[in-house]
Amino acid sequence: MAIPTVESTTSNLTANGIAASVSKTANTLLKELPIRNGTAKFMPDTITNGASKPISNGTPVTLPELDASLLTTTLTPNPRSVPAPGSPEEASQKVCTDHMIQARWTATSGWNAPSLQPYGPLSLMPTASVLHYATECFEGMKLYRGYDGKLRLFRPQLNCNRMLVSTNRIALPAFPPAELLKLIVKLCATDGPKWLPKDRPGSFLYIRPTMIASDSALGVQRPKEALLFVIMACFPPMDGSATPGGMKLLASRDDMIRAWPGGFGYAKVGANYGPSLVAQGEARAQGFDQILWLFGDHCSVTEAGASNFFVVWKTKEGKTQLVTAPLGERIILDGVTRRSVLELSRTRLEKRCGELAPIEVVERKFDMFEIEEAVREGRMIESFAAGTAFFIAPVGLINFRGKELKIPMSEGDAGAYTKVIKNWLKNIMWGKEQHEWGYVIEESE
Ligand SMILES: *Cc1c(COP(=O)(O)O)cnc(C)c1O
Repeated sequence: MAIPTVESTTSNLTANGIAASVSKTANTLLKELPIRNGTAKFMPDTITNGASKPISNGTPVTLPELDASLLTTTLTPNPRSVPAPGSPEEASQKVCTDHMIQARWTATSGWNAPSLQPYGPLSLMPTASVLHYATECFEGMKLYRGYDGKLRLFRPQLNCNRMLVSTNRIALPAFPPAELLKLIVKLCATDGPKWLPKDRPGSFLYIRPTMIASDSALGVQRPKEALLFVIMACFPPMDGSATPGGMKLLASRDDMIRAWPGGFGYAKVGANYGPSLVAQGEARAQGFDQILWLFGDHCSVTEAGASNFFVVWKTKEGKTQLVTAPLGERIILDGVTRRSVLELSRTRLEKRCGELAPIEVVERKFDMFEIEEAVREGRMIESFAAGTAFFIAPVGLINFRGKELKIPMSEGDAGAYTKVIKNWLKNIMWGKEQHEWGYVIEESE
């Protein structure tokens, strides 16, 4: 079977890329859902019209889309206190802010009006689809309290677009990504001012948009009910939590594969993570920080834990390159951080930058044998993992089949390229550099 390929980073999460991906799948599904005996059948829709359309006597009836302007607000009567910096509550990653967003969808009524309501437990039937068939997907973003006092998101449109790619892969309903963004912004504007006080610049909250199939029919089928929710959790600050000596990665064994062509590695679906925890637990027990996921007989390097993976090396011809795995086979996630690293490196590092020699930015398949050879020949310059949760994390060591490959860190705690890239991103996220990627949340007072 031919493996569908997708264009590379620059277009994949853009509106056109998304629309193409959604309508491609919608068309496939349409063929699987013929109209029989005049009974209503449901089909997913394209990006511009998120709700499903039931067909009645051959005439499509448009169901309500997800619509942020219909949001109802119920503020909590019991506001909680914000964990003190460095406290055990903050470290627990269990404390969420006062409110959450919820929106329900059903195949017969489309999207109901979303609500902003007090944070609290969900009610689900034990037969709910998500509990049995992993009909779930999520996003991970951060709300940053800037050094200029402003609250910011970082390229949130890309997360909302990617959420649609994920729902589409896991038979959850479509929605207009711009409406999801409006709901996220509303939650940030409601809880951000209190939970990220202005006197704590450099702090952040972790935002988790999630969609689950709440359908209570136990049959294995496309869910007819879904719940979208958005919560915000307190996390300890990132700096200081960096691993001294850099992250230690354990290359995955041949009998544990995270994702494969034709699978769903490109989607942020819960089904990718549960089965990876055995390997991750073993890695932790052996003193490693993350698994470096390999794929195929050639031990292609894909991702490190839930982060994209980069190396900077010199080629045998003496060129300095920043290399990361390509998106084409759809086995890795199109990370917002990955994309930002590539874009910044292409605009700022392909020509000389201070002390740093110009680099060539390359997305291609590369494997452990190339890394091993580069280390052996002294051509490895540095390596890092990139993702929202752990941000830019320098890599100090890779264990491959029992062999320890030491990765240089020219600046002591990171490589020189890693350090500038990390600083550029930090400056944009926390408002030290005014940049179009910073999305300011307006606060009322
Ligand atoms: C979330 C995630 C990433 C990082 O994506 P960002 O958008 O940069 O946070 C990378 N790989 C996997 C498998 C992930 O789940």
